[in-house]
Amino acid sequence: MTKALLLVMCSAAVAAASPSKQDLEDRAAVLEKQLAGTTMTVLVESPFVVVGDMGVKETRRIATGFLRSKTALLEKDFFPERPDKLIEVWLFRNEKSFRAGAKKYFDDTPDTPFGYYSPEHSAMIMNANGLGTLSHELVHPYMEKNFPGVPSWFNEGLASLYEYPGESKGHIIGHVNWRLPELKREITKKTLPTLAKLLHTTTDEFYGADWDAYAQARYLCYYLQEHGQLHAFYEKFKADTKDESGQAALEAVLGEKLADFEPTWRAWVLAISKDPY
Ligand SMILES: [Zn+2]
Repeated sequence: MTKALLLVMCSAAVAAASPSKQDLEDRAAVLEKQLAGTTMTVLVESPFVVVGDMGVKETRRIATGFLRSKTALLEKDFFPERPDKLIEVWLFRNEKSFRAGAKKYFDDTPDTPFGYYSPEHSAMIMNANGLGTLSHELVHPYMEKNFPGVPSWFNEGLASLYEYPGESKGHIIGHVNWRLPELKREITKKTLPTLAKLLHTTTDEFYGADWDAYAQARYLCYYLQEHGQLHAFYEKFKADTKDESGQAALEAVLGEKLADFEPTWRAWVLAISKDPY
């Protein structure tokens, strides 16, 4: 390869890379100007620009604490590439200020009290009274970059797993959380569709599901986590572009057909009584 060609390729790679320190500082300066006279704090926490309404000290505490540590853990285990887009993280101190801020700064009316990722605005807009939603939403822009063909069930399953995050042996883990009782109820009442159905949902079917598809996806990911199979599954699934649903990767990792695994998984979920960590 000639040196000239190599240089061209390098500059192309740079152009597609995540925002530079200068990009982040420039964006922060623009936001500071726009928000002058308000109580909003703007700061750079690479690869994000963070805006918070809870004062400088608290905004910095969240940015350099929770946000920094969860980002590092997710990058280490799942996402080697950072989002190309410059992502803003907007933190509001409670639900009331979150809803008011979403309307004022983004003209959005959130359908959730917790927070959401807006690809349109390249922003995570959060009720920071409870940071689990931040680590949930963090997964989405990273998934967008690292696994563009991801189906919604896995995008939301992994994000939901980390909405109650912890750390074990230097790796991110998800704890048992509030989505479990409803899932157990649906399994017991036999209203929960099969895992095969979940895996083959389109985006519209997943988000419009008349069962708790988030809980089902989360506790499939949780099962894989607890059996040390989540990373192997993820890598296999991502590598095989023909396996759009993830069923082939799942069966390979489990060593059995999905239909045979289904009763095992249901019984295992019903038997979860407390968080093992
Ligand atoms: Zn989500």
